[in-house]
Amino acid sequence: MPKLIKGVGCPYCGSSCDDLEVLVSDDETKILEVHNSCIIGSNLFHHANDPTRPKLPRQRQPDGSMKEITYDEAIDWMAKTMLAAKKPLIYGFGSTNCEGQSAVARIAEKAGAVLDNCATICHGPSFLAMFDNGYPSCTLGEVKNRADVVVFWGCNPMHAHPRHTSRYSIFPRGFFTQKGQMQRTILSIDPRETDTAKLADHHLMLDQGHDYELFDAFRTVLRGFDIPEKVAGIPREKIKEAVEIMKKAKFCMIFFGMGCTHTDGRNHNIDAAISLTRDLNTHTKCSIMAMRGHYNITGPGQVWSWQFGFPYCIDLSKGTHAHMNPGETSSIDLAMRDETDCFVNVGADAGAHFPIQAVQHLKKHPFIVIDPNFCMASEIADLHIPVRIAGVDEPGVIYRMDNVPIQFRSVIKGLPGVPSDEELFDRVYERMCELTNTEPIWLAAKADRKYPQNPAVS
Ligand code: SF4
Repeated sequence: MPKLIKGVGCPYCGSSCDDLEVLVSDDETKILEVHNSCIIGSNLFHHANDPTRPKLPRQRQPDGSMKEITYDEAIDWMAKTMLAAKKPLIYGFGSTNCEGQSAVARIAEKAGAVLDNCATICHGPSFLAMFDNGYPSCTLGEVKNRADVVVFWGCNPMHAHPRHTSRYSIFPRGFFTQKGQMQRTILSIDPRETDTAKLADHHLMLDQGHDYELFDAFRTVLRGFDIPEKVAGIPREKIKEAVEIMKKAKFCMIFFGMGCTHTDGRNHNIDAAISLTRDLNTHTKCSIMAMRGHYNITGPGQVWSWQFGFPYCIDLSKGTHAHMNPGETSSIDLAMRDETDCFVNVGADAGAHFPIQAVQHLKKHPFIVIDPNFCMASEIADLHIPVRIAGVDEPGVIYRMDNVPIQFRSVIKGLPGVPSDEELFDRVYERMCELTNTEPIWLAAKADRKYPQNPAVS
């Protein structure tokens, strides 16, 4: 009889909805139905049933074709390749769990690699601003229960995080927001008329790339000074009206996305947004949050900050200490300068997201992809090693966009013989130790760890 598993987390976007219900076959090998998720999350679960999912590593042959090899052969090749490289680059991790993100650190240290994650192409500028200016943030639960003014600046959750608005930010009824949407005023600040902008009570359609000026104008008005007739294409009266709404809020929440982090100004935009949040706290309660996009992309920032003291762009090639300097040690910059001689793409798709020139440089050297599925990167790789899907057939810890850790469970059994990211990294690390005649270093807790397996089966 099919089993209904409740309280399942969705491994697609940073909203990390953990109220899904998944109906699985009685032998726990097939996903039959997915309830409560948006269409993107549902598709991800159903994709796990795909009979063409790779079950063995594939290695590129001299004639250009790909040939299936065993996991032992793939692990041996990866270990030897990593040890032979002077400065490997290990990138990605949005679709991995924290256990995998932690395990890869041993390989990175052993190989003297640069360890980087997708923040390098999304919220890296937000990290830089937070280092400079702090991060007056909160949890999504506080947004649901308290926020009566919500600002979406340079982000479009209706497309990127489809259930964000219904679970946390616009529609839900909370403790102090019992009338839900009726009690909230929504501002969208975006150069495009997005679907989120269409939902908003006020849409400030600023000129593309002029966010910094507009943040500055908001702060100037808030401090009681005058501003020019138009700033960033927005009339003075409209700006004053928006500031007044934010100032009079009981709890104002500012969400920002890549429309701020990757337009002119970049980290300086976020600096200004954080300063605006601080200024608003002299009038009311205000909080700010980065709309972290890709599943567990908040995870590596947490895990690696514990391990190395830095969230991304971590250069371990000196062998003595970790060093972080975006622009010098960031993936795209390293690739564009051809300063890396081996590339490992894990749980992300550099083939789809990097500039073509960066990919062309990376392709001159060994190119390894670790991913449960075929993707653009896997199709140009020298070695593609499939792993389990974290959150579908592999449990583990993930971080939601508000830095709240959640234990995700697996809903079906993994494909026979296919390891998790963590198991694969551990085996590569062990092989690297064998090849270099060194003793592997394991945490004592590692041997004892046990995951809850489908505790909510009903
Ligand atoms: Fe999954 Fe995001 Fe959709 Fe929630 S909003 S169901 S986390 S894709």
